[in-house]
Amino acid sequence: MYLKALDIYGFKSFADKISLEFNSGITGVVGPNGSGKSNVADAVRWVLGEQSAKALRGSKMEDIIFAGTEHRKPLGFAEVSLTIDNSDGTLPVSFCEVTVARRVFRSGESEYYINKTPCRLKDIHELFMDTGIGKEGYSIIGQGRVDDILSSKSDNRRQIFEEASGIMKYKVRKLESEKKLELTKQNLVRIDDIINELE
Ligand code: ATP
Repeated sequence: MYLKALDIYGFKSFADKISLEFNSGITGVVGPNGSGKSNVADAVRWVLGEQSAKALRGSKMEDIIFAGTEHRKPLGFAEVSLTIDNSDGTLPVSFCEVTVARRVFRSGESEYYINKTPCRLKDIHELFMDTGIGKEGYSIIGQGRVDDILSSKSDNRRQIFEEASGIMKYKVRKLESEKKLELTKQNLVRIDDIINELE
């Protein structure tokens, strides 16, 4: 599995559609200060489901939509698509290429897609869980993340190791099951009350 392509339109400084193709080996993004290098990393973070405007260096989510310049009007929406080569079957889907996409409008409405099919953010999280890819994954190492790894707080370090060892998805499923169990227990208590009232 590897990152094959990134398509960006209307995201931060990218008013025109740009398509980046990644080949094997290391790819470096170079350019003068303020030319948008970090915006490329932000686009990857965002398409993988980042919900915090602060983590994307903005104050509100609308800040990620191209805001216009002296010579160009602002745009109404932003869209990023990230294509992963899955010919080794690392992702739990039968496609050898997987494209996840996210679109957001100024109204705040957000859409997610997997291979052009609308989906929920949860589906994107589940697709990448335990692969190291994702906004919490270890495939994007920002400055704060380095601090987490070096942190003396064992809980922070533990989360990274859990994702790497592939047990995160079981922990998430356990939590979901526990929630359902709790709801079912509450329903049972309610049913007992109703039965008692009827008797
Ligand atoms: P440095 O090397 O200094 O870290 P960089 O190449 O990483 O810079 P970025 O931080 O990615 O640059 O990009 C900053 C640029 O993006 C700024 O010029 C800023 O005006 C522009 N920018 C950010 N958000 C928007 C937006 N919503 N609309 C238009 N331009 C934006």
